[in-house]
Amino acid sequence: MNTHQDRCGFVALVGAPNVGKSTLLNRFVGTKVSIVSPKVQTTRSRVLGICIRDGAQVVFIDTPGIFQPRRRLDRAMVSAAWTGAADADLVLLLVDAKRGIDGDTRNILDGLQQKDGQAVLVLNKIDLVAKNRLLELTAELDDSGLFNDVYMVSAETGDGVDDLLADLAGRMREGPWLFPEDQISDIPMRLLAAEITREQLYLQLQQELPYATAVETEAWTEQDDGSVRIEQVLYVERAGQKGIVLGKGGKRIKALGAAARTQLEEIFERCVHLFLFVKVREGWGDDPERYRDLGLDFNA
Ligand code: GDP
Ligand code: MG
Repeated sequence: MNTHQDRCGFVALVGAPNVGKSTLLNRFVGTKVSIVSPKVQTTRSRVLGICIRDGAQVVFIDTPGIFQPRRRLDRAMVSAAWTGAADADLVLLLVDAKRGIDGDTRNILDGLQQKDGQAVLVLNKIDLVAKNRLLELTAELDDSGLFNDVYMVSAETGDGVDDLLADLAGRMREGPWLFPEDQISDIPMRLLAAEITREQLYLQLQQELPYATAVETEAWTEQDDGSVRIEQVLYVERAGQKGIVLGKGGKRIKALGAAARTQLEEIFERCVHLFLFVKVREGWGDDPERYRDLGLDFNA
């Protein structure tokens, strides 16, 4: 392998909620750095995934989805997504091949056109659709004049992802690597640990509740035996939600903790002792400090 550290660049992943941006980022990196769920708006802040390919360091920027914002948190997330795109050398627009061009994707196309941007089109979830549907969709999207290239991938199965990465690596500009060779993300371990637990909230809790929760890692203690003790607080907005997160006889919180712990041990490759606490913090969604913690702009 060519290890000259002479090319690098930023590639932003943008798209409507749920098109598979975070799944693709994790696939590029080869491990989970950005959480994934079937619910929309799982990704709240900007996450970097860093890959090295053919001597080039490709820095992917995962972004929250771009959609019609309603709450303050929505506005901050959408703004972070556009900032991610503006900061990048290259923009990948992801489209869910099964869902096709929905209103959110249409808005993003308009937004990119207004910014005179060029983008690489990535049709994702090709494992779910027939080939002729892909060609139709490509033709439709080609009309926008935004795309020089189209890739068809499945972030889930990995189909086409390696070819895409090789191509992106070839387009990186000359310049020294921006991150150390072994770094795969800029997300601090404490935050990643909180995100992994938040992912379980999205996977295990019904309906709107995950959107009303926040997770913070309060303590991270290295143990003598090489294991780590992680204490986290799950914040909910109302007292009634606390009972749901705990579950009957503490059953739900136990299941959340068990699943999160398994993931954490896999990611950190060590033994993890995870302790979860639930607290009510009214209006955390309007707390400027939380936005800062997430790297979001409170006043977006
Ligand atoms: P994001 O909101 O764009 O970051 O989307 P996520 O990465 O969170 O993925 C949303 C949902 O789509 C999750 O349930 C993923 O497992 C699923 N998904 C992502 N990529 C693919 C794919 O290529 N094929 C299939 N079948 N599902 C996918
Ligand atoms: Mg995401």
